[in-house]
Amino acid sequence: MKKFKNIGIVGLGLIGSSIALEIKKRKLSEKTTGFSRRLETLKKAKEKGLIDEYFQNFEEGLKYLDFLILATPIEIVKEYFTKIKKEGSKVLVTDVASIKEKIVEESLNILGKENNFVPSHPMAGSEKSGMDGIEDNLFDEKYVIITPTDNTDKNNISVVEGFWESLGAKTFFLSPSEHDKLIGLTSHFPHLMVYSLISLFEKYQKTDVLFRCVGTGFSDTTRIGKSNPDLWANIFLTNKKNMIYWIEEYEKALQEIKELLLNDSFDKLRFNLSQLKMVRERVDEKE
Ligand code: NAP
Repeated sequence: MKKFKNIGIVGLGLIGSSIALEIKKRKLSEKTTGFSRRLETLKKAKEKGLIDEYFQNFEEGLKYLDFLILATPIEIVKEYFTKIKKEGSKVLVTDVASIKEKIVEESLNILGKENNFVPSHPMAGSEKSGMDGIEDNLFDEKYVIITPTDNTDKNNISVVEGFWESLGAKTFFLSPSEHDKLIGLTSHFPHLMVYSLISLFEKYQKTDVLFRCVGTGFSDTTRIGKSNPDLWANIFLTNKKNMIYWIEEYEKALQEIKELLLNDSFDKLRFNLSQLKMVRERVDEKE
């Protein structure tokens, strides 16, 4: 595993600060440099010992780095591609954005075909946001999806793979469009579904009684409805094509269950639920 001289992290929220923590703990770099929007965040990260130094001026700090991780909200990533391009920097760059098609398209448009960007998405996180959501060992045994293009430098890919593995993660590859479709189903759509479920709750919360009727099923299922609205509104719209696809598939699935109910098909319903229970159990086995 390559030891870095100076890793830069832009955005020290839940993901960026959790990465910084692992870099320090595992001594993966001689130095960690932080960049963020607010000075307050940078000072806090330094006080906590997550970073060694920070720069408010990105261009100034960029020149000292041998690896840069973009951990900002999705819509901000392209601003950093533009700054990198403007500086003519050849630094190795990765990101953590939950959307890949748009990010890869922006990287190609701004940095050109031959660039030093290796797109990544760690399948780790929570409903929390900001540095207060920092989590020890967040990436341990988690998958990180790497979505290179045909032009992505092979050596850069293996350095980025090695980096995630040194954080305890496991990596695999998908194309950016496959990523957005599959993660659309396993991450983006569940959030959308939960928000729509909570909207039903909201509609019927005439009195406190409904709140008293909440059991663990509703609480567990809707936990992700406490996630950052800015982040998720952005993800839903950026991955609109796949969201619409999964909404339509889900409507069909609901319709099938509705018909079984209308036909009082206990045996078929029970059979279907048993099959689905087995599928869900396989998800736990994978973990
Ligand atoms: P977050 O906790 O809200 O943190 C975002 C950070 O970005 C904050 O530190 C913020 O800075 C900084 N930032 C905002 N605008 C900026 C700008 N213009 N320049 C520099 N820094 C800026 O977000 P997060 O949950 O860590 O998500 C970050 C990325 O990780 C997103 O792309 C998301 O898709 C991806 N991701 C998230 C999860 C998850 O579960 N949350 C999982 C996997 C991947 P200040 O603190 O200075 O305001």
